[in-house]
Amino acid sequence: MESLGVLLLNPMNAYLEQELDRRCKLVRLWESPSDRRADFVRSHAVSIRAVVGNASNGVDAALIDALPALEIVASFSVGVDRIDLAKCRERGIRVTNTPDVLTDDVADLAVGLAIATLRKIPQADRYVRAGLWKNKGDFTLTTRFSGKRVGIIGLGRIGLAVAKRVEAFDCPVNYYQRTKQAYPSYTYYPTVVELAANSDVLVVACPLNAQTRHIVNREVLEALGPKGVLINIGRGPHVDEAELVAALVDGRLGGAGIDVFEDEPNVPEALFPLDNVVLVPHVGSATHETRNAMADLVLGNLEAHVSNKPLLTPVV
Ligand code: NAP
Repeated sequence: MESLGVLLLNPMNAYLEQELDRRCKLVRLWESPSDRRADFVRSHAVSIRAVVGNASNGVDAALIDALPALEIVASFSVGVDRIDLAKCRERGIRVTNTPDVLTDDVADLAVGLAIATLRKIPQADRYVRAGLWKNKGDFTLTTRFSGKRVGIIGLGRIGLAVAKRVEAFDCPVNYYQRTKQAYPSYTYYPTVVELAANSDVLVVACPLNAQTRHIVNREVLEALGPKGVLINIGRGPHVDEAELVAALVDGRLGGAGIDVFEDEPNVPEALFPLDNVVLVPHVGSATHETRNAMADLVLGNLEAHVSNKPLLTPVV
């Protein structure tokens, strides 16, 4: 693939960047000052046949229009919500993502966030570090995770991996998605509100699209209630963040463990003083093992494309 011109949108992974540099003609978008990106893209446009982006940096209609030789968008993410898929279909541009290899890590984080939120693990850690154990005595009592009813929005690859994990904690599993499946031990609810009303912990694990934007709204948060906990490892815009913050501040929601935010890396500062939330910076797939596997999948898709072989993980 030495002749393949690849535009890398941001420095997402050192191993991926090194391999793209070694195997292709790599163009790094961030080498251009941000106010001159359009000129930079124009100057490389004829040679760029592939774009590699991720969960934060996608490929919109303007970038597609600026790249007449574009053949493939290989995303370093499973979510493709930042790619204009309709435009890619229209132009015959292939799109790939990185499913499966990240499933375990994201599911691990979802369960970790649920336990950390209910058992206040980060708060207890801060209590020890601040010397409060010695000066003020025992830490506050917290809430049990084992046995809690876990509701999952989107029982796909990640949702099922969360279900499998929480079953080991004796948690009954409920779910909502468009298609009811014949799972013998998971209970289907036909609406998110009914799912929330029948769950103690609500996990968001569906893709982001026009139907799922703000799928967790005020009504859903009210149904989850003052003892309920929201875990978002999907995408920030799945949740109406203003409503989430208001519900947490007012005590209308019990707590939240959040990996993804509406306007990353900006996080509502109103969440910072709350001790019923655990906040992490979009790290669902961020382990050495998984990020290397994701990089190999991006490279494998590009190799397949230039060799006219079937793509490993096609979306379009
Ligand atoms: P997946 O296997 O495609 O599963 C998606 C599930 O969502 C399916 O069960 C699907 O069922 C359901 N779904 C689709 N559209 C829906 C809708 N309109 N309403 C309700 N449910 C809907 O995807 P996955 O690999 O598990 O990944 C899920 C998402 O996790 C990704 O798209 C990404 O946004 C997010 N993610 C986040 C991180 C992170 O770092 N935090 C990392 C990886 C992935 P139906 O088709 O029957 O509705």
